[in-house]
This record gives sequence, structure tokens and C-alpha cells, in this order.
Amino acid sequence: MLSYRHSYHAGNFADVLKHIVQVAIIEYLKKKDKPFTVHDTHAGAGSYAIASEHMQKTGEYQDGIAKLFGKRTGVGVIDQYVSLVEKLNPVGRLMDYPGSPQISASLLREQDVLQCTELHSTDFTLLKREFADDKRVQVLKDDAWHGLKALLPPRHRRGLVLIDPSYEMEADYNGVLPAVQMAMERFATATYAIWYPVLDRNRTESFIRRFVKAGIPNLLRVECCVRPDASGRGMTGTGMLIINPPYTLAQHMAQAMPLLKEALCDANGHTTVKMLTGENPQ
Ligand code: SAM
Repeated sequence: MLSYRHSYHAGNFADVLKHIVQVAIIEYLKKKDKPFTVHDTHAGAGSYAIASEHMQKTGEYQDGIAKLFGKRTGVGVIDQYVSLVEKLNPVGRLMDYPGSPQISASLLREQDVLQCTELHSTDFTLLKREFADDKRVQVLKDDAWHGLKALLPPRHRRGLVLIDPSYEMEADYNGVLPAVQMAMERFATATYAIWYPVLDRNRTESFIRRFVKAGIPNLLRVECCVRPDASGRGMTGTGMLIINPPYTLAQHMAQAMPLLKEALCDANGHTTVKMLTGENPQ
């Protein structure tokens, strides 16, 4: 039984970092005409109304997208994300926050493909409806790891695999690395972007250590902690592990972090941008 609903959290500081990385990777893929595939393992509902009861109940977007909407920082990766969210809100006010599938779909070209898996019945139905008329988009009500097995490799050998579990269960932490290893055997040339929360520093570090120990190559870590680490006090930070990042991403995220820190973090927040492994790790 899935209890997590992204509609309570859409547009929060974790979405901001994740979607900045997502937009940057897709924009990089678009530099070549050749088609590519975005595979979204935990797709969610697709888009979220700010006025909804769920978003108003938590107000998490206030400490996320609302801090950046309508602003320009001069840092490309932040500004291209913010301008995309603005474009999806043509009235000039923040009315809807796009989920990862809507972000991908609005950046994809005619020749590109979006594959989404989502297991929650309500969110799956919303997502399916949103893309009913878009032939580039495939939406499956399926388990994320099963979807990777079923749909990879895609026809196009370039792409992004976005992995965004809710980490409601310990199995989510344990399942990511084997799923990524299996997916990489099928689709080695893709970029993989894996979201993780910082709720407990020891657990976060052990999650990341497993990737390094497993010899996952070309591994970039990007993390933004809005408060000092504090176990048991909710999500204090958010991070992304990116395998095979575009060669410009680490530099662009390093430029973005001071501005994200200023916009999203309190005085004791901290950020990291670090390559953890190279081309040929031990
Ligand atoms: N990627 C979305 C975005 O950025 O807009 C948010 C996704 S949310 C963090 C995680 C989603 O995964 C939820 O909608 C949840 O229903 C779904 N989910 C949980 N377990 C799943 C599983 N085993 N397979 C597929 N989807 C799952």
C-alpha cells in the first residue's frame, strides 16, 4: 500500500534541486539532433496545482520554487529551470508546479521519447490523462524496477534515467543500487540521475558509499542541505547522484550552489558538488 503522495511536497527545495539537474541534463542531450529517451521510474502525477488542499496544507513549495519564481540569478542552470516553470505558468503567477514528466515533456522534441512508470493508482490515472494525446510519452502502471527491465534499452542509445523513489521504506534504499546496475547493463550509455534525501547523515553516507564501493563509474554528487544535519528532525537536505553526467554539469552545479544556498538555505545550511568516482574506478 503506497501512502506517499508527491502532491504534498511538489515544488519543495528537493524538487528544485532535482529539477534543475533534470533540466540541465535534458538541455545537454538536446545539443545533438539525434533522438534520446528519458525514462522516469517514479513519475508521480505529472503536475500539481498550487491551490490544491495538499500543497496548501504543507506549504513546502514556499521554501522551494516560490523563492526563485520570477527571479533571475545569472546562473544558466538555475535560470533555465525557473524560466521553464514560468513558461508553464503563463498568467505570470505560480499556479501549477510541473512534476518531472511534465518538465521532460515540455523540453522534448518531436523525435524524443518519454517513458514513465508510476504505481499509485490515483497518480497513474492523472499522469495517463495528462499525456493521453502525446505520442512521444508512454505511461505504465508498473513497479519502477520492473519498468526498467521491461523498457530498457530504448530504441535510442542516448538518454536520461531519472530515479526518484519516495524512500518510504528501507527497501527503497536497498533497491536502488541493484536496479541501477541492472539498468546499466542494458543501457550503459545513459545518464542516471538518482535522488536521495538527507534525513539521517549516517544513512545517507552509507547509501552513497555503496555506489562507490560497487565501482559505479563517473559518479557526481550534488547536495544542498537547507539546515544543519539533524537526525529525527525531518529532511534537512536533498541530493542527487549522477552517473555519466554531462561533462559540464559539475562546473555548472558548482556555480549554482552559492545562489541556491542563498535562496533556499538557512545560515547554517551547506552544499556539496563532488565527483566521487572517475572513468575507471577500482
Ligand atoms: N518524480 C516525480 C517528480 O519529480 O515530479 C516525483 C515522484 S515521488 C518522489 C515518488 C513517486 O513514486 C510517487 O508518486 C509514488 O507513488 C511512486 N512510487 C512509489 N513506489 C513505487 C514503485 N515501486 N514503482 C513505481 N512508482 C512508485
